[in-house]
Amino acid sequence: MIPSPTEYLLENYEFVKNGGTPEYKINCPFCQDTKQHLYFNTRKSVFNCFKCGEKGTDLYLISALEGKPLYEVKKKFSKDTKKFVPVVTGTLQTAMAQLSMLEMPRSRPEPTFAEVEYPPFYRPVFPLSKETGPFYQYLIGPKRGLTDQDIEENQLGCCTDGTYKNRVIIPIFMEEKLVGYQGRDITGTATPKILNPFGFNKSKVLFNYDRAAKFDEVVIAEGAFGAIRIGPNAVATLGKLISDEQLRLLEPFKRITIMLDSDAHEEADKTARRLKNLNVFIVFLKTGQPDDYTRKELEKLVSEAVYGRSLAALSTILEGKL
Ligand SMILES: [Zn+2]
Repeated sequence: MIPSPTEYLLENYEFVKNGGTPEYKINCPFCQDTKQHLYFNTRKSVFNCFKCGEKGTDLYLISALEGKPLYEVKKKFSKDTKKFVPVVTGTLQTAMAQLSMLEMPRSRPEPTFAEVEYPPFYRPVFPLSKETGPFYQYLIGPKRGLTDQDIEENQLGCCTDGTYKNRVIIPIFMEEKLVGYQGRDITGTATPKILNPFGFNKSKVLFNYDRAAKFDEVVIAEGAFGAIRIGPNAVATLGKLISDEQLRLLEPFKRITIMLDSDAHEEADKTARRLKNLNVFIVFLKTGQPDDYTRKELEKLVSEAVYGRSLAALSTILEGKL
């Protein structure tokens, strides 16, 4: 018998009963909590942390306590995982007949991308309100320089409280599902500057992939804001190096242009070499990152990109600078 997720939690973790209520307390795994601010309601199988505002289901709590992705935890407690061993006797013919009469278990295909939920206190930047105003100002301000259209098309949001308070939420969709997000601090004082949700594996996804997949040509940037500036056919790896999963996602494109930040010329070259069977070009930015340039300048840079395996690309690396 598989225990229910709630039973499993009570058996395996040291909860403190909260008087005569159906609630149990424990140190919250989402924040630096030492005073048991997380209340778990065993009747409803939901929890709520009164310190950081995180809340969710028993499955979500297990994934946080054990440091496992939610889809793995879901699978563990799924009734479908029961082993199915058909007992077959007699000749091959009777065996076949027996087998055909048995109801074979239908194994559900593994979801390619695990869907996540927005963090507590999330709301989209639009429609503008008193609460979302400061986030809007940050996004259209000199540092980011986004347009209303950029904000709308990329479905940018924000958190007004909780763990992601004062952070712009940049959603990441794959196959039209929300699979992760980045929380970017707007105050300039919080660490880390970018906060990812627990268990989010950014190496399996590309920011803006769904939209870019409609084009033949793609541009690869490091960060989401760089990709947004380049345009709807740009994706972001969310890091300087590209993963095997991300490489596979890029295979269908007819032309790939790599435009990493100016401090990542070597990584750009390395990426070009890993995309070896594809039509790859590189833009070596002289300074800064894509979002320091205008969209017009970026278009020109893409059109003038050097072929990924040309001597020009190699000498750029050897000389260190353009
Ligand atoms: Zn907490």
